[in-house]
Amino acid sequence: MTAAEIFSLKGKRVWVAGHRGMVGSAIVRRLATEDCEILTASRETVDLSRQAEVEDWVEANRPQVVFLAAAKVGGIQANATYPAEFLYDNLMIEANVIHASQTNGVEKLLFLGSTCIYPKMAAQPMREEALLTGPLEETNEWYAIAKIAGIKLCQAYRKQYGSDFIAAQPTNLYGPGDNYDLETSHVLPALLRKAHEAKMAKAAAMDVWGTGTPKRELLHVDDLADAAVFLMKHYSGEMHINIGSGEEIAIGDLAELVCKVVGYAGELNFDTTKPDGTPRKLADASRLKQLGWHGARPLETGIGETYADWLGSDRYAG
Ligand code: GDP
Repeated sequence: MTAAEIFSLKGKRVWVAGHRGMVGSAIVRRLATEDCEILTASRETVDLSRQAEVEDWVEANRPQVVFLAAAKVGGIQANATYPAEFLYDNLMIEANVIHASQTNGVEKLLFLGSTCIYPKMAAQPMREEALLTGPLEETNEWYAIAKIAGIKLCQAYRKQYGSDFIAAQPTNLYGPGDNYDLETSHVLPALLRKAHEAKMAKAAAMDVWGTGTPKRELLHVDDLADAAVFLMKHYSGEMHINIGSGEEIAIGDLAELVCKVVGYAGELNFDTTKPDGTPRKLADASRLKQLGWHGARPLETGIGETYADWLGSDRYAG
């Protein structure tokens, strides 16, 4: 059973903060099918880390609904190199947008985090209750601390001012707008690119990092956007909600699936000089499921769509 619709987007002025990013642009695509007015602010117009700029823009543009998808993001290497930026920029962005939303009477706000907020040793699948029950993974604690503060801001504004501000954290994402740089990308775009290049070069084998045994959960960013709009309409509460597909796959199996989609029949060469990372990272998405959302597309379908999208995009260098 689906939870009742408790909030309508119809006719509303909806601000997608971070609309140029992978998540924000997916939310903009999804909102195109809703009867609402989409507001965006370019980086040149508003620097979200500057309080006065955010306050002026919100006051002038009067959004009624906010999807807060703006953040400084990056992989393991970027987090290690720019810890101050990951902590400072993300704290400022969320504090400014959440505060300005409260002072300007925004009716509803959804803050998007990441499942890296959970303790390193959290039991799998990771339930929402695992938050703040143990030490974080050191490599991304700067980003995680900022995202935890964002969740707490939503809770605090709800408690003190009665603001209907909610928070959700998606699992590992893939899809249009992803990063295909082999040094800094996540696993799916890296495997797509490697399989494609190996196919074009008629190579005998392609490299896969690590042992292939770690497991990951992957969610298409358009499914995340659909779940975000669903939560906006059907959920209100203090608890932050996990957004995931509920399914995990071993990296070796993922590599085989990518090769099948791309049409590459060579060997997989597991490079064990590269790190495996955490053995498992699965979000428990049963709360979201109970609310009535279970719309994640099959992984093979999503990989096929992502491959076609990449080949047709300006991120593909040929
Ligand atoms: P994580 O989920 O934070 O560990 O980030 P990644 O998406 O970068 O890596 C997930 C898993 O995929 C790790 O076990 C990697 O070792 C493995 N992997 C296999 N091949 C690749 C690759 O070419 N690039 C990346 N980034 N990861 C790979």
